[in-house]
Amino acid sequence: MDHLSVSPARLPQPRIARRTAVKAVPLNLVFFGPPGAGKGTQADLFAARHHIPKISTGDILRKAIQDGTRIGAMVRETLQSGALVGDDLVISIVAERLEQPDTAKGFVLDGFPRTIPQAAALDAILADRGGVSVIALVVHADEVIRRLGRRGREDDEAYVIKERLEVYSRETEPVLQYYRRRGVVTVLDGNRPLDEVTEAIEAALKRAKG
Ligand code: AMP
Repeated sequence: MDHLSVSPARLPQPRIARRTAVKAVPLNLVFFGPPGAGKGTQADLFAARHHIPKISTGDILRKAIQDGTRIGAMVRETLQSGALVGDDLVISIVAERLEQPDTAKGFVLDGFPRTIPQAAALDAILADRGGVSVIALVVHADEVIRRLGRRGREDDEAYVIKERLEVYSRETEPVLQYYRRRGVVTVLDGNRPLDEVTEAIEAALKRAKG
């Protein structure tokens, strides 16, 4: 009878224990596209649906200006001109935000990274957190101008729009190439109505998950 007195610790572990040990892959997303592509709106909707935070560097910087903080004072003129704020500053803002525990299951970045150094910094921050997937919204130039004209933000005046679009093609478009080389980009047609784009984003992510 000795062989029946096996202690529970030596019995095979139930499968469930192994399954719960597998961590869900975090939903780390970058929404990419020119100003007016609708990425902010889509990022808001996506974040709410998936219960993950949306992190918009533009929103953070505008809030700093509104609140009259030291950083706000530093960046006010840059935002008004349509130029980019320095890499070091935005990288430190995002690095700090990504340390918050609410980002552990994933997040949506909107408006970051906008330069190659920012993309490289994000890689370093996420080195042991699963990297990112990129949703790139492609929109015709005339549609961008139409949408920005309607939005009425302080930096949506015609000459500032022109500057922001130029900055986008010079500094930010190369970031897409950077991610494409890695095969982490899904390009979607952002000219379509909002709800169709929303559906396309969900479908693309389901495909990516397999
Ligand atoms: P957005 O709301 O994303 O269009 O950003 C508004 C403005 O904030 C931009 O035109 C830039 O002046 C500044 N900004 C936002 N995100 C970044 C970033 N990642 N790098 C540099 N400047 C940024």
